[in-house]
Amino acid sequence: MTITKAQQYLTNFRNIGIAAHIDAGKTTTTERILFFTGRNRNIGEVHDGAATMDWMEQERERGITITAAATTANWTRSGTNEEYVVNIIDTPGHVDFTIEVERSMRVLDGAVAVFDSSQGVEPQSETVWRQADRYGVPRIAFSNKMDKTGASFDLVVNDIRERLGAIPAPVQYPMGQENEFKGIIDIIRMQAHTFTNDLGTEITVSDVPEQYMDKVREMRAALIEAAAEVDEDLMMMYLEGEEPTAEQLVAAIRKGTIEKKIFPVLCGSSLKNKGVQLLLDAVIDYLPSPLEVPAIKGTLEDSEETREFPADPEGKLAALAFKIMADPYVGRLTFVRIYSGTLTSGSYVYNASKEKRERVGRLLKMHANSREEVTELRAGELGAVIGLKDAGTGNTLIGDGDDRVLLESIDIPEPVIKLAIEPKTKADQEKMGIGLQKLAEEDPTFKVETDQESGQTTIAGMGELHLEILVDRLKREYKVEANVGAPQVAYRETITRAVDVEGKFVRQSGGRGQFGHVKIKAEPLEAGTGFVFENAVVGGTVPREYIAPAQ
Ligand code: GDP
Repeated sequence: MTITKAQQYLTNFRNIGIAAHIDAGKTTTTERILFFTGRNRNIGEVHDGAATMDWMEQERERGITITAAATTANWTRSGTNEEYVVNIIDTPGHVDFTIEVERSMRVLDGAVAVFDSSQGVEPQSETVWRQADRYGVPRIAFSNKMDKTGASFDLVVNDIRERLGAIPAPVQYPMGQENEFKGIIDIIRMQAHTFTNDLGTEITVSDVPEQYMDKVREMRAALIEAAAEVDEDLMMMYLEGEEPTAEQLVAAIRKGTIEKKIFPVLCGSSLKNKGVQLLLDAVIDYLPSPLEVPAIKGTLEDSEETREFPADPEGKLAALAFKIMADPYVGRLTFVRIYSGTLTSGSYVYNASKEKRERVGRLLKMHANSREEVTELRAGELGAVIGLKDAGTGNTLIGDGDDRVLLESIDIPEPVIKLAIEPKTKADQEKMGIGLQKLAEEDPTFKVETDQESGQTTIAGMGELHLEILVDRLKREYKVEANVGAPQVAYRETITRAVDVEGKFVRQSGGRGQFGHVKIKAEPLEAGTGFVFENAVVGGTVPREYIAPAQ
């Protein structure tokens, strides 16, 4: 591929997500990355509320990350003067927020999958991995918490092979594990990195200690073999018994990683500030720039014809709105990824999803703890737009007057659970209406309905935690006091039979159906007691505890 002068800056861009299930250490790792990239000077513990990415109050309290903000950081590759821009797209770890995962996967080019090395690959890490598979995201794996009791790098490497069915390419080996964890061996360059202060800012680089030599030599041979499998040049050298240089080895692993054939594995302890700089170097070394991922495709209006938008600031504008957020200072923020072309402040764009012309106000790049106003966002960049009134999650923005094209959109799943919500006072009623509307605008999986007859308002979302958080936000941000009813399952696919209060068979369905207000016998859920549902779809008002778990 030839790269034009205008595209040159893109070779130094990495748009990445930190993908992990809850508790693997995503927040800590992200926060350390922001610390080491220099934008965030206050290193803070997640649970004392100082973490930078988890800036929403309740996220801190709950220790989970919900918002998919994009943060811009700068990194100089260790041992070089090469400056890189690393955009970190926040991906949620909780399964309730699949839409958040989906939209973040859509706008990133590569990911760091974080594992808790004392647990190996857990069922939830598998879910996150499969999601990344679905979106074809190249990954490097980070075996975090090497300092923790029970930590084992080999466990993570083996689990990647056996539980995830992926080919791990360990490029590091830990020196010591659990409370003996002292440093990291770079298998490619055969160097030992020892961390000598608590902040992890002082690193001594030395030869590999004798005690690790045999193990590391064996691992290096295996690594060369794995890399040769994905790179012909290396294979030729391998067959002729020639030893590759570090650069040749890195280039081959990079190629295999971008093709998703192999997955480099690194280790460290984010909490103890060990290994984070090396992880950033690996992001640069192995994950693709926007020029190395397939160009996004769009479909021309009223036809089947598709068009590709390669990452080029001089191309036609193609951008995706991937997150709407209400900001207390500037109002509505629309987070966008620019795939092609350049978005300029003060210009007009065409929202092809809403079929509306919209004016772009100001443009922001978000840093860990500052915002930078810019006049343009170029291909490959991510940022926030102030002033778009209609753009929603998944909307395509193109140049005003260009051929009308729709980018592949984001699938928005139906809510799975709902509950009734009732304002405590008349004053609350009005605020609740406004608050719910704003929250629903931000979050397309959050639905609000009001029953015409009873006036009862119900809210629906992706899980109990999802709704709990939204009710909490209603209280904090919109000062609404409200009572909520018990969660009810709104939609489920694993139910076949329903019996009413008298034990009468109500309905059997293989397809989609709506039960409406079925009264259910309040019997304990035991296999074989004839409870009530298997294998169909129920809608509406069936309390969750009455529904048999999927078999
Ligand atoms: P997240 O849910 O994936 O964002 O995980 P957090 O970053 O909130 O971390 C979950 C817990 O693991 C917190 O109590 C962290 O302090 C702890 N933790 C994170 N990284 C490490 C690590 O490297 N070593 C140890 N021992 N604990 C860690």
